Amino acid sequence: MRPLAEKKLVVASHNGGKLREFADLMAPFGIEARSAKDFGLPEPDETGTTFEENAYIKALAAAKATGLPALSDDSGLCIDALGGQPGVYTANWAETPDGGRDFRLAMQRAEVAMQEVGATEPAQRTGRFVAVICLAWPDGEAEYFRGEAEGHLVWPPRGDKGFGYDPVFVPNGHERTFGEMTAEEKHGWKPGQADALSHRARAFQKFARAKLGSA
Ligand code: IMP
Repeated sequence: MRPLAEKKLVVASHNGGKLREFADLMAPFGIEARSAKDFGLPEPDETGTTFEENAYIKALAAAKATGLPALSDDSGLCIDALGGQPGVYTANWAETPDGGRDFRLAMQRAEVAMQEVGATEPAQRTGRFVAVICLAWPDGEAEYFRGEAEGHLVWPPRGDKGFGYDPVFVPNGHERTFGEMTAEEKHGWKPGQADALSHRARAFQKFARAKLGSA
């Protein structure tokens, strides 16, 4: 495994919610991180059909453009009753006719789809958030770290914290949605502590253990 020689990287994302979470997760490690947005990089088309492929597309584009190692996150919500949808297309479900994104609409779309297949009881409304972090170097070498958070979907949405589909997702072992949790509660992890809670924090925990010498 290639070491991260300098603690200096670019976070290959333009998503404000993800960038805030990575800033929190990286804070204890003294990493000098700038985002693809800070560099004014374009957002590459996510043409892959897996989280890994899309994470690689984003990380490689940022690494090549900046000459720095790049860390990306491709993530999504996989709903069992919908055969794993929206999955890698989670962000697309929020697209509006004018090209914007509306996550209330996306959550509603998921709810309508679940109602259509009769998924009304909590046990029928299970799913997971998945995050795949890709660390890519400008020469194309890459490593992957996957995190998953199991839970179930509720309706109506609850809570105004977090981002995306957080207000409809209750992680296993909890009663509140991610949208009702503080960032610290959603991550559920600090270096040296037990397992993280959110998919992104779980993926980052693996990254930190492999690359940052975290306990
Ligand atoms: P992508 O990784 O850019 O394809 O976008 C993934 C999409 O999944 C985001 O736009 C969010 O809507 C959703 N998503 C990923 N992680 C989270 C999360 O932690 N909370 C809520 N929604 C998320």
